[in-house]
Amino acid sequence: MTETSIANDTIAAISTPPGRGGIGIVRLSGPEASSIAVQLVRLRHPLEHGRARLADVLDDDGDAEKIDEALVTFFAAPNSYTAEDLVEIAAHGSPVVLELLLTRALALGARLAEPGEFTQRAFLSGKLDLTQAEAVRDLIDAQTLTQARQAASQMGGALSRRVAPVKQSLVELIALLEAGIDFAEDDLEVTPQSEIVRRIEELTPPLTALAASFTRGRIVHDGLTLAIVGRPNAGKSSLFNRLIDRDRAIVSATPGTTRDTVTERISLDGIPLELVDTAGLRDSAEEVEQLGIHRSREALADAALVLVVLDSTVPLNDEERRLLAAVENRPAVIAVNKSDLLPRATELSAEELRLLGEIGNPPPSVAKATTDSMGVTRGLKPPSPSVLSFSAACSVVLQNSQKRSGALASEECLSSEITDSATSIPGLVRNGRESIPTSALTGEGIPALRERILALATGGAASEPGMLTSLRHRQAITTTVAALGEAATATAAAIPHEMILLDLYRALWALDSLTGQTTSDDILNLIFSTFCIGK
Ligand code: GDP
Repeated sequence: MTETSIANDTIAAISTPPGRGGIGIVRLSGPEASSIAVQLVRLRHPLEHGRARLADVLDDDGDAEKIDEALVTFFAAPNSYTAEDLVEIAAHGSPVVLELLLTRALALGARLAEPGEFTQRAFLSGKLDLTQAEAVRDLIDAQTLTQARQAASQMGGALSRRVAPVKQSLVELIALLEAGIDFAEDDLEVTPQSEIVRRIEELTPPLTALAASFTRGRIVHDGLTLAIVGRPNAGKSSLFNRLIDRDRAIVSATPGTTRDTVTERISLDGIPLELVDTAGLRDSAEEVEQLGIHRSREALADAALVLVVLDSTVPLNDEERRLLAAVENRPAVIAVNKSDLLPRATELSAEELRLLGEIGNPPPSVAKATTDSMGVTRGLKPPSPSVLSFSAACSVVLQNSQKRSGALASEECLSSEITDSATSIPGLVRNGRESIPTSALTGEGIPALRERILALATGGAASEPGMLTSLRHRQAITTTVAALGEAATATAAAIPHEMILLDLYRALWALDSLTGQTTSDDILNLIFSTFCIGK
């Protein structure tokens, strides 16, 4: 269904990235590729399709001294990437040698290739359709293996294969209606209205499923930003380091240490995630810290996902209440950090265990106990992930335990406040938002935290072959579905077929923008092959 066109000039470019490397490649494509190549280097054997040949790269200063050795591979049209004659000269990756080869190729009649022109030629010659050509760019740009796999699958035609059967059925339907109009005098049976509506409606579900795949496809393609926010000293930098698996951000017991945002990219189950560690939110008179806090607010506003870090050992403050309210309707995860400082299960009274059991969570298992300077044993391992109400129960337990030990007896417990504010912040409760007990110190709760972030990032959408990854693709599918809907409505209203065809062509053109143009010849051929017109 694709029109082909073969360029009549020969293009050349350095195909490897700028800079020094073991190997550097100059590529030529077009009718003169091989004749230019044989003048460009001194080949030891004639060029042959698919064979690498040793060659000398000669100096330019008249002495024709050899300055490098290269491997020259020739691909004869149409069996090349561009479907044209194509030559790849692999020399050492010296920018000087590669520049010399390129300059000489241009002097011999080649034209400097535009960015992406080799792939454009592959597209124009019908070697690749547009989605496959876009996948080449995506593969080159991929930053995670999942992105590369996704691009490779699209390059292999996964998306085109999903679209192809729908497009085929649509073209057949168009041919059917066109035949009814163009050859009405040939006594063709008129297709009943209900049959046309049925055929249109059959086209929609696979397209709707394809459009839905954009949820996951877009995230795999573009990635997401996660801002880590909270008060100073809650453990944001420590959690950031845990999530990226190395010590990148400075961790300090002194509040206000993180003055600027620190960014790192990770791959979470193949989803590229940019983590932004921010300066702690608090009122500060200090100018540098104020600037940092301003940037934190910007990062918070820009991020697609938010990780709110609370310190389980101190009461919620106003800043945190405002923060929780601000993320109420946003995709956010709440980490109640320093869970290692909660009391251990063996210290719980029967009443406290009942309280934990009552809210539907299993009693906490025993973690390694540690004894702090005040002689308080800490190290409760909370079930994970647990709901806010668990934190509430924990808080009562913590308060009791603190009363027992005489520590912090007068302090309100943070966790109960989360629940209190959760009840007063309808979104938190209504959305069943979970808080996850974490310990950046021991690593507890980190897998649950990753899982929760991933679930939030993907919205639960699974990976599938031939996902839509670009807005352009999604728009094409949406336009097709809308046009098909209009065609179905028009058919049901007994509108003339000429008008219905306009909608169907609109649907087809949108699909064409993904997989290549359907020509009037394609439709005519189908009419003649499907119908015995003229007998
Ligand atoms: P930030 O200011 O929110 O980035 O907090 P940091 O990550 O710099 O941590 C502040 C202090 O809390 C440091 O002394 C950390 O070692 C300590 N800390 C962070 N997370 C935990 C945790 O889960 N448990 C314990 N016990 N201490 C922690």
